[in-house]
Amino acid sequence: MSEVQRTSKVVKFGGSSLADANQFKKVKAIITAEPERRYVVPSAPGKRFANDIKITDMLYTCQRLASEGKDFSETLGQIRSRYLEIAKDLGLSFDPTDELDRIAFRLKEGATKDFAASRGEYLNGMLLADYLGFPFVDAADVICFNENGKLLMTETMMSLRTKLADTPCAVIPGFYGAGPNGEIITFSRGGSDVTGSLVARAVRAEIYENWTDVSGVLVTDPRIVKDAAVINTITYEELRELSYMGATVLHEDAIFPVRAAGIPINIRNTNEPSAPGTLIVSGDSADSDAQTGYTITGIAGKKGFCAINIQKAMMNAELGFCRKVLSVLEEMGISFEHMPSGIDTMTIIVAEEMIKGKEKTVLSRIRKAVEPDSCELEHGISLLAVVGRGMRRTRGTAARIFAALAHARINVKMIDQGSSELNIIIGLLDGDFEEAVRRIYDMFVNSAWNESISES
Ligand code: ASP
Repeated sequence: MSEVQRTSKVVKFGGSSLADANQFKKVKAIITAEPERRYVVPSAPGKRFANDIKITDMLYTCQRLASEGKDFSETLGQIRSRYLEIAKDLGLSFDPTDELDRIAFRLKEGATKDFAASRGEYLNGMLLADYLGFPFVDAADVICFNENGKLLMTETMMSLRTKLADTPCAVIPGFYGAGPNGEIITFSRGGSDVTGSLVARAVRAEIYENWTDVSGVLVTDPRIVKDAAVINTITYEELRELSYMGATVLHEDAIFPVRAAGIPINIRNTNEPSAPGTLIVSGDSADSDAQTGYTITGIAGKKGFCAINIQKAMMNAELGFCRKVLSVLEEMGISFEHMPSGIDTMTIIVAEEMIKGKEKTVLSRIRKAVEPDSCELEHGISLLAVVGRGMRRTRGTAARIFAALAHARINVKMIDQGSSELNIIIGLLDGDFEEAVRRIYDMFVNSAWNESISES
């Protein structure tokens, strides 16, 4: 087996980048602009306009109708028209009719949801391969799962490497692979990101380019801060913190394969290919890089938390207090987010959906376990994370955050700074959440605060 050359870039295109023929043309221009862009991972055609329906969703509909014994020919017909229209507009003779007939047959025989959904990427991969003149590699032959639907990393790497060693360029559809008996299995939604990452690792790519419809990862949610700035460079760790707190960028499982191999991810915009996008790198390379320009990298957050407030005189002297409280949560299958405490008080922040329906039992069990002076629930709490590797070597970051909130007369209910000094998490009332994000954004991105006093 010859070693795959290192000078390759893996390019993954999301559904909106392949929603119609015009988008396909942009994709081809991007791929042909650099000969290193040799391995291409497409999603299924996505939305062309706000109320449009993704091909993947239409395929799920077909499967559901089929499983209910209902007619799905109309939806399947719409899927056919979408592929045919793209092919026709690109001047290709590609016709999905025979494949769709086979899919219809399988659906009537009781094919799974995964099989149905995967066909969007499968057909789009064939169409794109035809358009680019690249070989098509079926993901079912190279992405391996076990019988429980868990990805088999070693097998997948071996299959991909063997297959791609003799294939200098290829289109490999995203989102799916196959189990031990050849049955089709998909990742969770948005999983083409994972396929791209696996291919990048297998070919030891120089970079994994993830092409989408935004010009990179934004400092914060553009629905809260209009025209939020793009982050130039972010570390995997920072991205994980922001994603956990609600920023939607990449599928969670897409980070691990490339991170372990030291391959950077570049988020790029198909509709603005000249923009450099966001580079996602490991912490070491980011530190030696030029800084982002701001002390913080991003702000994200979520609503929908509640606090269990426990108070008991001399709590600090009572051995095992914390363990007993946490045991109650563990026994009830409730995981917690944060646990700020005082000498005689302890607060546990949990997601509302975790505790829903179990509130009374949780409180009565805690009362029984530790006999507190008081124990009550407080609803309507938001968590906001200010994330940035720059904080570690910058003094005054917390002062700036809380000054911004104080000026807005926003009450802070909880503060938690991780030991890595990568983030500061703040608990707020739901009603203050958006304003808090805007104020912190302004403080770090828009204000002329003198950074030199805070640099160590
Ligand atoms: N087409 C699939 C979805 O809509 C997978 C993907 O786009 O990554 O979730």
